[in-house]
Amino acid sequence: MSKLEYGSLCIAVDELKGKRHLLRLKEGGRFTAMYGFVEHSDIIEGGDGCFVNASKGPGYRFFYPTYGDYVMNIKRKAQIIYPKDTAAILMWGDVRNGQRILESGVGQGALSMAILNTLGGSGELVGYEIREDFAVMSADFIKEWHGEAENHRIEIRDVYEGIDGEFDRILLDLPEPWHVVKHAETGLRNGGIMMAYLPTIIQAVTHVETMKASGYFEEIETFEFTKRPWKIDGRSVRPEMWTYNHSAFLVKGRKVSVKPEKPAKEEKPAKVEESAIEEITETTEVIGTTEEA
Ligand code: SAH
Repeated sequence: MSKLEYGSLCIAVDELKGKRHLLRLKEGGRFTAMYGFVEHSDIIEGGDGCFVNASKGPGYRFFYPTYGDYVMNIKRKAQIIYPKDTAAILMWGDVRNGQRILESGVGQGALSMAILNTLGGSGELVGYEIREDFAVMSADFIKEWHGEAENHRIEIRDVYEGIDGEFDRILLDLPEPWHVVKHAETGLRNGGIMMAYLPTIIQAVTHVETMKASGYFEEIETFEFTKRPWKIDGRSVRPEMWTYNHSAFLVKGRKVSVKPEKPAKEEKPAKVEESAIEEITETTEVIGTTEEA
């Protein structure tokens, strides 16, 4: 894996313009682009990170593609979650191996690949996708990038209609994720995390309000991430003129059990003996305290 050989994927980076092309290496294959061609055998001989001159002069740098190279260079039919947001979903959604994760919709499968990578063959990823053609397309892309995954399945169904089973995480990239909140009351375990990816703030507001009204979600946070590239070239050291400014908002919430009713009349706390306070201090271990996560 992650080696340039016949059958593997490869990314070619244009020496002059930095343009990136995704290709698959084949025996007898030839990569043809702006500057003529490069034989696949020369790429394999050079190995990961090699430079090969093309037949018409300038050349290309060849690498085994990263996750970002792959998802950004495949032919896309669905709007994918970009890698900067995928990274945030995995971290703030606290995705880790062994978990049961529900993802909806599956779209191109870009987020699915990142989740499967984190699960590392453990746990389970279930995708609910309403469009059969997208389910088939994403399964092919996931197989191409990740290989066969026994802990993954895609079900063709509408997540707004309900969720079967109970999950540790629910990750949503849908136009109206608030329809899933009521299903998460049983479909997400207590303490589990739900995250939604929402392009507009109006969607985020509706989603947050629905979560609050349900009474089953706390630790609700709304945020977005910006990747701000800088140019560092001699004395020219400054942010790039262009920035990919907005992709989407992320809304996170943690499923809780419903608060018990407060007793009608507050009971006076019993007087605590000095010796008992000492005992509590000794047996209570607080590892750290912070205002924000
Ligand atoms: N996160 C994906 C892209 C998802 S695009 C990626 O990174 O590749 C949104 C997907 O949600 C589309 O495929 C769409 O068909 C699907 N979808 C929309 N409404 C749905 C619903 N109610 N139930 C299940 N899937 C739905």
